[in-house]
Amino acid sequence: MPAIEAGFARGIKGPIVESLSHDILIIGGGGAGLRAAIAAAEHNPKLDIAIASKTYPMRSHTVSAEGGMAAATREYDSLDKHAFDTIKGSDFLADQDAVEYFVSECPREAVLLEHWGCPFSRDPDGRISVRAFGGMSVKRTLFAGDKIGFHMLHTLFQTTLKHENIHRYDEWFATSILVEDGHASGVTAINMRTGEMSSILAKAVVLSTGGCGRIYKFTTNGWIKTGDGMALAYRAGVPLKDMEMVQFHPTLLPNTGILMTEAARGEGGYLINKDGERFLKRYLPGKMELGPRDIISRSEMTEIKEGRGFEGPYGSYVLLDIRHLGEDVINKKLSFLKELAEKYAGVDPVHEPIPVRPGQHYIMGGVNTDKTGYTGIPGLYGAGEMACVSINGANRLGSNSLTECLVFGAAAGKAAAEYAMRQSMPHLGNPLQGVAMEEETRVYDQVLKHEGGERISSIRSEMQSTMDESVGIYRDENGLSQATRKIAELKDRMRNASVEDRDHVFNTELISALELDFMLDVAETIAYSALYRRESRGAHTRTDYTNRDDAQFLKHSMAYRDHGRPRIQYSPVTITRWQPEARVY
Ligand SMILES: Cc1cc2nc3c(=O)[nH]c(=O)nc-3n(C[C@H](O)[C@H](O)[C@H](O)COP(=O)(O)OP(=O)(O)OC[C@H]3O[C@@H](n4cnc5c(N)ncnc54)[C@H](O)[C@@H]3O)c2cc1C
Repeated sequence: MPAIEAGFARGIKGPIVESLSHDILIIGGGGAGLRAAIAAAEHNPKLDIAIASKTYPMRSHTVSAEGGMAAATREYDSLDKHAFDTIKGSDFLADQDAVEYFVSECPREAVLLEHWGCPFSRDPDGRISVRAFGGMSVKRTLFAGDKIGFHMLHTLFQTTLKHENIHRYDEWFATSILVEDGHASGVTAINMRTGEMSSILAKAVVLSTGGCGRIYKFTTNGWIKTGDGMALAYRAGVPLKDMEMVQFHPTLLPNTGILMTEAARGEGGYLINKDGERFLKRYLPGKMELGPRDIISRSEMTEIKEGRGFEGPYGSYVLLDIRHLGEDVINKKLSFLKELAEKYAGVDPVHEPIPVRPGQHYIMGGVNTDKTGYTGIPGLYGAGEMACVSINGANRLGSNSLTECLVFGAAAGKAAAEYAMRQSMPHLGNPLQGVAMEEETRVYDQVLKHEGGERISSIRSEMQSTMDESVGIYRDENGLSQATRKIAELKDRMRNASVEDRDHVFNTELISALELDFMLDVAETIAYSALYRRESRGAHTRTDYTNRDDAQFLKHSMAYRDHGRPRIQYSPVTITRWQPEARVY
């Protein structure tokens, strides 16, 4: 690996004498990124692979996943059942060829993870335990207590350490993708420890930067989930697909947004209203608490609107009751949930029900890719929550996301390896060097050194409130139009905003400003895609267009960046074997 000799140090502009380079550069060290690195390393041990991540890999959001990962592993289950549940869950917006590939790879990925050392929970006969999950017709969610994300990420991380050809740039923040002659040739990135910007060149780049939940105020997502990779790809010319499809999870703690895992309902927990009723009998009589997230979140909102919720200092809520499961089951299978409820809500779920309300959790949409992670820009791949293959359509089923990270992380890593083996290493001559210099000017002159103007926190807060209020669970024409105007205004104000901290070492305010700049682009694609989808489907609920409209909208929204603003086009949904039908549970 060449020494770091970035010429961008401390804002002193000058040509980059030498830049860093690798055969494959993976941006993001979460489940998808680590799996991609392993796949590439296994495909060809001679390839030089690097993972750059703005956090240490074990701090990626994957670590916080609780409930489990789906894979059809039992004799009563089948690939077709898993595929159909996923497609029905998606309200028929998923691409069925992608779903068929996904479900067929899930069991293999689960076995691989087990062989690499993931400590899954076991049945007495030694098989990996499975639990029920929302929208799944049978028990197929593999779990490790209620800390699957921690154990999965640890297993993947330690597996990457076995490969000497995987290098890491921990706490490096990618700011742009370098594109030369239409090919992705690397990124510009800030080493957060020094504040220096470098270009890291690569024959192939894999984006695996996770979701964008922080665009919303009330979310389960960690602070790092700011849609960076979506904005990077969008700015490089890749369309963002189905961005209006944002998942709201029904059980968040009302004050913090901390998730009370769906495993609680999978194990038999109840949702109850002020009258002590299991209210889902009115909305999901066949599934009750094991219904899909979109319908349960809306049911909670209806209960609250009709006066059957509770009022609290952090808004209205309903109750999640797991007392009847008993202390043993709670301690064994939901110990993390118990700890979180005690610490953050002051409630011991063995003895009291937990207050919960719906909030942002996941985004079904993302960077448009095919089954190999290919984005349409030669050399650029994407996988994980950031990407939209699409298997999740208008509503993801819980526990499909972690396996999605594994299946499509592996596919993207392998495809990037095959591509890199055919390419020669890009050089930092013109025009790449010019592009990198422009990026340096943007970051250091326009953002870091900008004088006057407002602080970024007020812009971020207004964006989040706008998204919560107008692009939340319920949407309509008026609110969405207002949201698009508001985001345009915030983008204008952002150009004039300034950061107070001018230091280079771990300047988290500068990083936050760059993240906010990404989030505004992503938020705008969500608002526009939602405005033009004049129907209700899955998580996208229009109060002015309440029905699903297959004649007009059985198609993917594709947001292209056009003069800085989204232009929405549409592309067909791939139907293989399952014709759309009414989605009733
Ligand atoms: C609380 C919670 C519980 C969940 N539980 C489950 C569950 O039980 N089952 C399930 O299937 N799904 C679950 N999910 C969803 C699932 O965990 C995520 O969708 C999935 O882990 C995303 O993985 P990822 O690899 O795509 O991204 P992440 O794990 O978010 O990783 C993103 C990586 O990208 C890096 N990065 C981002 N931007 C940049 C940048 N500009 N430069 C450099 N690096 C960057 C970050 O540092 C990080 O390493 C849960 C999600 C949450 C929030």
